[in-house]
Amino acid sequence: MPVSTLHEADVLREQDPEVAEILMGELRRQSASLQLIAAENFTSRAVLTALGSPLANKYAEGYPGARHHGGCEIVDMAERLAVERACALFGSRHANVQAHSGSSAVLAAYAALLRPGDTVLALGLPYGGHLTHGSPANFSGRWFDFVGYGVDAETGLIDHEQVRHLARNRRPKAIVCGSISYPRHIDYAFFREVADEVGAYLIADAAHPIGLVAGGAAPNPVPYADIVCATTHKVLRGPRGGMILCGAELAGRVDRAVFPFTQGGAQMHTIAAKAVAFGEAATPAFATYAHQVVANARTLAGHLAEEGLAVTTGGTDTHLITADVAPLGADGRTARGRLAAAGIVLDCCALPHGDGRGLRLGTAAVTTQGMGEPEMERIAKLLAAVVRGHPEPAGARAEVHELTGAFPPYPG
Ligand SMILES: *Cc1c(COP(=O)(O)O)cnc(C)c1O
Repeated sequence: MPVSTLHEADVLREQDPEVAEILMGELRRQSASLQLIAAENFTSRAVLTALGSPLANKYAEGYPGARHHGGCEIVDMAERLAVERACALFGSRHANVQAHSGSSAVLAAYAALLRPGDTVLALGLPYGGHLTHGSPANFSGRWFDFVGYGVDAETGLIDHEQVRHLARNRRPKAIVCGSISYPRHIDYAFFREVADEVGAYLIADAAHPIGLVAGGAAPNPVPYADIVCATTHKVLRGPRGGMILCGAELAGRVDRAVFPFTQGGAQMHTIAAKAVAFGEAATPAFATYAHQVVANARTLAGHLAEEGLAVTTGGTDTHLITADVAPLGADGRTARGRLAAAGIVLDCCALPHGDGRGLRLGTAAVTTQGMGEPEMERIAKLLAAVVRGHPEPAGARAEVHELTGAFPPYPG
């Protein structure tokens, strides 16, 4: 398959056919199966080009104009551009674009605001909190005293009364809002009000919806949160990486929390790729994309419900859907296995109430491929049939190939 993005592919094939074959094999896998993992997307060729550029060679500890290494005058331009574009895109006074990942961004936000032992209120892990929101397997659970809020058993919506009650009783130093699987908009004004009432910082972990925010398809946490943490590789469609947005008062603390406190040298090739992605995200075409992502998710959720899946919260405001597949006679793990065999790739997730696992899926990648609402209906029907145990994997695979063949992620 000709891929101009892998512009050095021939060089690699010549020198190291073993690794070249792995790269091409992964491209074939991504192109030939349906990518419904909610956190994944297809970056543009321009983003891949920046990632594969000689900026990868440059050491650049510190910040533009104040580096610990020589020869940074060119890469400084890349970082200044990325910061300017991020600030303009999200209406933020300050942006740190060095965070290596979403988790690194959250770690730095905590480092900027908290001391070990502080109490933090966040969405509990069984309800869609991220590992960095207090998992005992993560630094967050080890170093801070996390208190989890939940969702209403009936509606699946964040239990605002419980948030207010826990905040008043536990007096957290920070409140975190944001999730790996919550499909609805978050009421940032509500969280701001509660944080103000108890004198807590508000940290919005917008790793998932930040791309929708960029396209005007989801509310912007920037006016409400003291610090916004995000990833650049989910709906935002940039390189794998993190980003932190905040006001002028916290800028110095946030920057020092990233470097030198939690990270070393910045990855300048990734930062250049972030600048490219922010440039793309500022276009009308991206706004159209972001709205289509949501329209597709709503259509997909509606058809999945028609097929008998129990869709959490009854639908979605975003790119994200979670659903219980028990009504189809399967648990989440079995369903994921059957779907994988048919070439439909998605995740299992904890279900808010009940002990089984459900499915978590998203429309960011398939929408980038150009799929629309007719394709969402087809995908819902196919997915439900496969989860029920029919048709034969070969038949399902053939239908997946028909779909993916019509919408190649890197055409030409
Ligand atoms: C994806 C995600 C992260 C972590 O991002 P990584 O880049 O995988 O470290 C953190 N928080 C939330 C809410 C996420 O969805």
